[in-house]
Amino acid sequence: MSRSSKFLDGLRLAPVDPSSHLSLGTKAAQWEGAPSKAELEPATRQLLERLHDLQDVFHADGRYALLIIFQGRDASGKDGVIRTVCGAFNPTGVQVAAFGPPTALELRHDFLWRVHQVVPPRGMIGVFNRSHYEDVLAVRVRELASEDVWRARYDQINAFEQMLAQNRVIIRKCFLHVSRDEQRTQLQERLDDPTKNWKFRLDDLEDRARWDDYTDAYRDALTRCTSDAAPWYVVPSDRKSVRNYLVARMLVETLESLSLEYPRIDDDVRKAAKDFK
Ligand code: AMP
Ligand code: MG
Repeated sequence: MSRSSKFLDGLRLAPVDPSSHLSLGTKAAQWEGAPSKAELEPATRQLLERLHDLQDVFHADGRYALLIIFQGRDASGKDGVIRTVCGAFNPTGVQVAAFGPPTALELRHDFLWRVHQVVPPRGMIGVFNRSHYEDVLAVRVRELASEDVWRARYDQINAFEQMLAQNRVIIRKCFLHVSRDEQRTQLQERLDDPTKNWKFRLDDLEDRARWDDYTDAYRDALTRCTSDAAPWYVVPSDRKSVRNYLVARMLVETLESLSLEYPRIDDDVRKAAKDFK
């Protein structure tokens, strides 16, 4: 076994441990000693092919829904991982939902109302670009609701996710963790590259200025709302090739754990089709 394939063996995400203190510093945004992009990309390509095949049997099996949630600061790579990793899926079986500031109507409902509507049905994969976690992140940091309102939401989120899991929605949550330096590089690129200018918003800078408040809010969300049924993963995301490999591998392992099967043709259908040839 070569040095890099041995290393690849150990390159996998572990669910957040609710009793641990998550540092969420620069180190956690990197995977020290990870293989080069040239080594990771072919391995990721294989995982993506496997993911494509697994989705086919997942869809045919039809017993489960899969909900993949991506959270992360501005320019942390949410769009990129969705394009690259979720791009492996047959689009017919995927629905992507992005969550921006709530509309006037959404604000008149409970915060989970708009979320529940786009939870995927069984057989389908739902991908969230941001999610109900904004209601304990942006809402908390920007003080858009009083503390008693957002504090009550950790329990409400746990109850909601437990209910979904009991209804055979498989939930996986990825926090794309970038360092402060890497975010600066990515935001600068949005300013410099005319094809990326449109992604840049002034409130990205306001949120960047509240870096430490967001770190606290993420730490609480990730440790209070992680469970076997709906685990959080901290994805070191300073390097895209590492991020893509880790997310792809976690999704492959998730789908493999479900013992998916293609449904068998009914006996009477087979009988009726006997003379078909
Ligand atoms: P983007 O993902 O860059 O298109 O930006 C979406 C923006 O919507 C981010 O600044 C989020 O913080 C914000 N957002 C999403 N959900 C909520 C929410 N429930 N309350 C307030 N802001 C939100
Ligand atoms: Mg923003």
